[in-house]
Amino acid sequence: MDPKKRSSDKATQEMLERMYEAGIENAWDRLEQQEPQCGFGRLGICCRNCAMGPCRIDPFEEGPQAGVCGATADTIAARNLVRMVAGGAAAHSDHGRDIAHTFKLVVENESSDYMIKDERKLKEVAARYGIETKDRQIKEIARDLSEAVMTEFGKQEGTLISASAYPPPARQKVWKEFGVTPRSIDREIVEIMHRTHIGVGSDYKNLVKQGLRACLSDGWGGSLIATELSDILFGSPQPIRFGANLGVLEAKQVNIVVHGHEPTLSDIIVAV
Ligand code: SF4
Repeated sequence: MDPKKRSSDKATQEMLERMYEAGIENAWDRLEQQEPQCGFGRLGICCRNCAMGPCRIDPFEEGPQAGVCGATADTIAARNLVRMVAGGAAAHSDHGRDIAHTFKLVVENESSDYMIKDERKLKEVAARYGIETKDRQIKEIARDLSEAVMTEFGKQEGTLISASAYPPPARQKVWKEFGVTPRSIDREIVEIMHRTHIGVGSDYKNLVKQGLRACLSDGWGGSLIATELSDILFGSPQPIRFGANLGVLEAKQVNIVVHGHEPTLSDIIVAV
């Protein structure tokens, strides 16, 4: 095991050596155990989206060129790709939903341990959502914003407010031309699962287009909501100088590692 082949980070190399000596398995070990990885899987031409499968396409054109339902390699690869998009967008945007729920609790519950730390950011975001901020109490503005962002996840009509409130008009025009303006966060993910099922979408270009729309609903919807509400609840980030990587661990003290990407819990642990 050569740690330098696995990571260029010196602290990680040191940790990999220690793990090797201690017989502790890691992702690199498991990757080696998987070699050679499944060729059909790597090409995305194996499908098990329905009970008639699994089906696979012969990439050398000597065997089957369509699944039982008639899906070609293009269709199967596009279905697999956009289902991965659905999974990623769901994971990413649900992080935003969790923060939106925390924000709602702050608005509804005076004794919540969470609080609105950045009022300027609250007003700025509220204004983007068309919420009146002048001469209004912070709590009132926050309540309206909470309702607006919650609606973005499951709305049945129209398009995402944030998809027109943030991106430049030229970008919005491109989305409109291609028919990929995101409508709501959950809807685009559900539509992927629908269209990629047997007997539904088979045009690979159309499937990939829906994947793009779900990406946009995540990036300009759930993910953006997570960022904006995190700033409001935990304070907008400022550049600071700090240590990084596994080298921050101290041998002679108890180390508590909090995961900052999902700050709802870690922020309150640090505060306590
Ligand atoms: S959806 Fe089509 S290609 Fe996929 S498993 Fe079912 S029959 Fe096979």
